[in-house]
Amino acid sequence: MASSLIRGKYLLAGVPSEDSTEVISDGALYQEDGVIVEVGRFDDLKRRRSPDEVIGSGRQLVMPGLVNAHHHIGLTPFQLGSPDLALEPWIVVRSMNRDVDNYLDTLYCAIQMIESGITTVMHNHAAWRKGKGTDLHEMGREVLTAYRDSGMRVAFSFSHRDQNRVVYQEDERFLASLPPDLAAVMSERLKDSELSTGDYLGLFSDLKGEFGGDPRARVFLSPGNVQWCSDTFLEAVKEAAARHNAGIHIHLQESFYQKRYGLTRWGKTPLAHLQDLGFPGPEVSCAHGVWLTGPDIRLMAETGAMVCHNASSNLRLKSGVAPVNPMTAAGVTVALGIDEAGLNDDNDMLQEMRLVHKLHREPGVDGPAPTSHQVLRMATLNGAKATFFADQVGALEEGRRADVVLVNLEHIEEPYLHPDTNAVDALLYRGRGLDVDTVLVDGETVMRDRRMTRVNKSEVWADLKARLSRDLTPGELERIDAAQRLLPHVQRFYRQWPGEPGPSHYLYNQA
Ligand SMILES: [Zn+2]
Repeated sequence: MASSLIRGKYLLAGVPSEDSTEVISDGALYQEDGVIVEVGRFDDLKRRRSPDEVIGSGRQLVMPGLVNAHHHIGLTPFQLGSPDLALEPWIVVRSMNRDVDNYLDTLYCAIQMIESGITTVMHNHAAWRKGKGTDLHEMGREVLTAYRDSGMRVAFSFSHRDQNRVVYQEDERFLASLPPDLAAVMSERLKDSELSTGDYLGLFSDLKGEFGGDPRARVFLSPGNVQWCSDTFLEAVKEAAARHNAGIHIHLQESFYQKRYGLTRWGKTPLAHLQDLGFPGPEVSCAHGVWLTGPDIRLMAETGAMVCHNASSNLRLKSGVAPVNPMTAAGVTVALGIDEAGLNDDNDMLQEMRLVHKLHREPGVDGPAPTSHQVLRMATLNGAKATFFADQVGALEEGRRADVVLVNLEHIEEPYLHPDTNAVDALLYRGRGLDVDTVLVDGETVMRDRRMTRVNKSEVWADLKARLSRDLTPGELERIDAAQRLLPHVQRFYRQWPGEPGPSHYLYNQA
């Protein structure tokens, strides 16, 4: 039996409420075989328990492992050659990205995430990016194995599209508007990425069979987004999720054009259309929801569907500011994600939390603004719910798994911080990923004093560097050429769409 006593100057215990978190000064938790047995004061627990080791000097802050509730790949699209644009044209230039080994790429981001205190991730992998001869089973295995090797928890899904795959219009109709040679290239590519509903569901159940028994892994289903999926596919996914007791992760109303697609196609928002299909429910987490209307938000709350909010990504891809204050006021569960696009182009979850904390501060003395405690809850307990680890992680309390992060307080408190400052405020105002020094998952130390215990970071970095120092392959050059030719056609397509009527959820300023 392995046990440890984890000690901190402050320990964030229990579940954060709207305006407070229980902070135990000189606190500790005692864990045995990965389960938190007791939380209390260090001197008391030390007297009564005989742990194998004591972790922490008593000068750190001890908090629950953070959850990145929406994520795709490791090396960022920017690193791989595509700068930020509005979402829809960005999807085109994103296809210019270089090919990276899936296993190494996932290890790279798992290391970055652990370094910033993330212990659980919702990893959403694009099945629709597959090319000729890609073995999706092998791809899924590589990603899940990398997480297993890193020690992180993961809710993995393959996202799938079966319609409107170039722009939000029938593929054939859009391809017919392109110059014939470009249409031929795109048509070939769409053919190579095809996957039947039966094959998609088979892929899901195979991976679930292979990895679902791992206590640190969940396998989810993921229709890419409402405009990208036929009703038949959405219904098949909903039914399979019920049969397998699995979660569903879907992008939803991320951009203005996605909402507009629903209004034009069905005379209602994409979420309202999903409701017609009986799709939303407590097993469904929706990435973004930037363009949810008031009735949409009520519907989310009523059905128990959750939102994974990605503040940095939404700013970078010109998607807008998600109505997080109305969502939380309505009782919607809001989790946080970095979406491979943090503001610093890294995976610093503390930075992402700070951005969320500041972005939703509406003007005026009574303007709503999330508290540090609410943001901490979004990044812990709410993320745990979205990834189907709800009762197991997300808070430091008896009976939960010991996913624990120790944050060095030196840069946060030195040379001076007012002694009355709440520890959660201190973390949200001043903490950075670099301040995280030790991380445990299931009571196992996966990073100690900023050194990975399971994987060799410098080897991973060196391997990636060596592999990417090669010349571009013919396949990569071909994709770059096609994307550069396609881009103006996609931009022209969206320029023809009407503007957005109606008021914004947030009134930042007015002429
Ligand atoms: Zn995404």
